[in-house]
Amino acid sequence: MVVVHETSPSRVLLGAGARHALPDELTRYDAQRVLVVATRSAAPAADELAAALGERAVARFDRPVVHTPVAVTEEALALVEASRADAVVTIGGGSAVGLGKALVARTGLPHLTMPTTYAGSEVTPVLGETEDGVKRTRRDPSLLPRTVVYDVDLTLALPVGLTLTSAVNALAHAVEALWAATSTAVSDALATESARLLLDALPQVLAEPGDRPARAALQQGAWLAGTCLATVPMGLHHQLAHALGGTFDLPHAPLHTLLLAHVVRHNLPFAPTAVERLTAITGADPAAAIAALAASYDGPRRLRDLGVPADGLAAVADRVAAAPYPNPGPVDAPAVLDLLRAAW
Ligand code: NAD
Repeated sequence: MVVVHETSPSRVLLGAGARHALPDELTRYDAQRVLVVATRSAAPAADELAAALGERAVARFDRPVVHTPVAVTEEALALVEASRADAVVTIGGGSAVGLGKALVARTGLPHLTMPTTYAGSEVTPVLGETEDGVKRTRRDPSLLPRTVVYDVDLTLALPVGLTLTSAVNALAHAVEALWAATSTAVSDALATESARLLLDALPQVLAEPGDRPARAALQQGAWLAGTCLATVPMGLHHQLAHALGGTFDLPHAPLHTLLLAHVVRHNLPFAPTAVERLTAITGADPAAAIAALAASYDGPRRLRDLGVPADGLAAVADRVAAAPYPNPGPVDAPAVLDLLRAAW
């Protein structure tokens, strides 16, 4: 088998206070008229940026929505046109980054981003958009944000529940990269270091959410995890998250969090490299370690808690088994249904 490894171009600024470098960074792209897209949670950072940019901050949009609905993108696009913006800066989680990518897809403007969660979208050339209840995903190198600024200070206020689910979302990218049939020395190294950073730092951050070095470790783990997502095809875990999330309109990170231990338990007997690398980090059964993390979530922990009907599981299992993503463990409908029932 010939495996192709492609590395995306990336320019990343890292460190506490890195956000203050953004105005200078914009000059690399000759940006004079900037649209700032920021979730409401990022309003203080957006205010600070707007003050630093002065007249260069020509417009602001504060309503990015999960799964990038086209109607919302069109609203933001009208703002780009009315303000004659020549660059987009996004501040927020995957929803803000997704809107930035959707604007780039329509305008070609440079997009700079400052992530505030661990979703990893900022380093992938992938955009998923929804219209009329259907999610369509496209992949194109031009969708990659031009500069990513990882400033740990922007993550300090992320609530504990979101921190947990978003970090486990990141961990899922690393874990699936470890068991991918087309993994390489590069993706293995990234995934192993990502899992180590995330699994080591997460308990510390949950105990002390303001711990900056631990938060910085989580953010770096999320960066590497996002790079895995961009580099290696994802398997059953992501397929289940897409199928369930799309069918029942479920929250992204909590869904990943409740599924991951089940998929790890399902796949590990068929994934010796992943077992070896994860066990070296968790010191025991990796599925149990991930299940323990997920059990500490003070939110929906089973598919039934998210409102998924028991009689809806078989159709999802059938769909997954009909066109499975590459995966080490079995993906026949009965095996997938067993896994879903356990998660239900
Ligand atoms: P999100 O961006 O929807 O944010 C979740 C919630 O957290 C929002 O209410 C937001 O306001 C709040 N929030 C974000 N940062 C905060 C902070 N620092 N402090 C306080 N509150 C904060 O969630 P997400 O999980 O980051 O992103 C999910 C979206 O990203 C989905 O649409 C998913 O499909 C997409 N995604 C895409 C890719 C890709 O490669 N294309 C990868 C991962 C996720």
